[in-house]
Amino acid sequence: MTFLFDHTLLSSSAVDFVDAAGVEELLQETKHDLGRFREVLAKSKSKEALTEAETAVLLAADTPECVEEIFEVARQLKKDVYGNRIVIFAPIYVGNYCRNDCVYCAFRRSNPECDRMTLSDAQLENEVREMLRQGHKRTIAVFGESHKYNAAFIAQCVEKIYAVQEGNSSIRRVNINAAPMDHEGFRIIHEAGIGTYQIFQETYHKPTYAKMHPAGTEKADFMWRLDSLSRAYESGADDVGLGALFGLYDWRFEVLGLVAHSRHLMNAYGCGPHTISFPRIRPASGIDLSWKYDVSDDDFKRLVAILRLSVPYTGLICTARENAHVRRSVMDFGVSQIDAGSRIELGGYSELGEEQVARKEQFELGDMRSLDTIICELLEDDLIPSFCTACYRKGRTGQQFMEYAIPGFIQRLCTPNALTTLQEYLTDYASEKTRNAGEAAIMRQLEKMDDGPQKRELISRLERISETEERDLYF
Ligand code: SAM
Ligand code: SF4
Repeated sequence: MTFLFDHTLLSSSAVDFVDAAGVEELLQETKHDLGRFREVLAKSKSKEALTEAETAVLLAADTPECVEEIFEVARQLKKDVYGNRIVIFAPIYVGNYCRNDCVYCAFRRSNPECDRMTLSDAQLENEVREMLRQGHKRTIAVFGESHKYNAAFIAQCVEKIYAVQEGNSSIRRVNINAAPMDHEGFRIIHEAGIGTYQIFQETYHKPTYAKMHPAGTEKADFMWRLDSLSRAYESGADDVGLGALFGLYDWRFEVLGLVAHSRHLMNAYGCGPHTISFPRIRPASGIDLSWKYDVSDDDFKRLVAILRLSVPYTGLICTARENAHVRRSVMDFGVSQIDAGSRIELGGYSELGEEQVARKEQFELGDMRSLDTIICELLEDDLIPSFCTACYRKGRTGQQFMEYAIPGFIQRLCTPNALTTLQEYLTDYASEKTRNAGEAAIMRQLEKMDDGPQKRELISRLERISETEERDLYF
């Protein structure tokens, strides 16, 4: 039996914009051409989004000199658009029941090595409390795909997460990674106040998609998933996040799929995705991955930099699937968000020790360092960890976010907000080493700012946070 959703419920812009044969042809026919390469680099330096054909030019430019040039431009764009801040979040896994059977995932329904559970209200609260005690302010709630986790259930979880108060702190932004819904479902979770709705297409290559998602499962419906972010936008979503799981098929194809998807959203809704994720497949309990396409660390760095050039105003997320060394090396090439101190087992923050528990997690993490260790490393690398949630709470999302981002306002708003959230972390949670590194970093940032009312206000806020109980001050 092949399960199909009712395609009359697709969005008004529903179209299969990934022509697999056309993309393959583009990859094969685009040969390295230095003149064309320079033209495309010039376009990305002017912060214009690239087409698939232009991105293919960057993918074909594989000489060491050209790759270095791509890295250089990616570093510059990252600085110009995002400054040196890195937004920090951590996932919370709510339930791992799943009706699908994705061959790469430990939550697949046929995996006997997965211990199934859904967090009770008390467990959810404990998980959030523990995250708050570590210093988190932003989370993404993650769900298997089960009828138990319908829109109403997800909306209730979001409300419960926002309601937890630990000392002077609570979660300020809850993003969601959960099964695609219909318009009504997306409206329900939007009304619960979610930040970004994130979903990964996994692979844009339809034949591979069919192999990875067995017929008869709901996820086998490629078009229902491909169209989901469009339905989310049509249902009021402020921000959406897309992604591909690298290692299912040729990484170059997936990069073009991500670019095509971004352009489709931009053309249809006047706004591209808020974030793009590019997870690489990780080992997982009970899962055979001997078939996977290798994406080497060098190729991974290239794909991050090329995405930076192709979608200059889209946040790039590098998760703790990657090891500490790889994460540190791609930060420069355009990553703007990372998770830190993450636990992906059900109950991982409040119920388990330091070791990963394979039967409760979806895959192995590559970076299990604590939040404090990661923050300290970022500071030592002259990056500013940010827990800021101001744009979403001030309504600077979607199209609005683009309007702010494009004239470079983000740096003027984001840097001060990053500094006040960093000050909160240093005052309330940091080790002595991190506090010293953080205070020195804040001083360096202040020295770079022009004197004036905004700087005076920022200094006053930083002092109030470190000397009083005042928190959550943002521009
Ligand atoms: N169940 C929902 C879904 O499939 O979209 C949402 C949550 S799923 C837990 C989040 C993502 O984890 C998936 O979209 C997939 O890309 C990724 N994932 C699954 N198995 C993985 C593995 N072995 N290594 C790395 N990422 C994996
Ligand atoms: Fe279920 Fe998502 Fe895992 Fe697929 S990737 S088996 S849908 S949890």
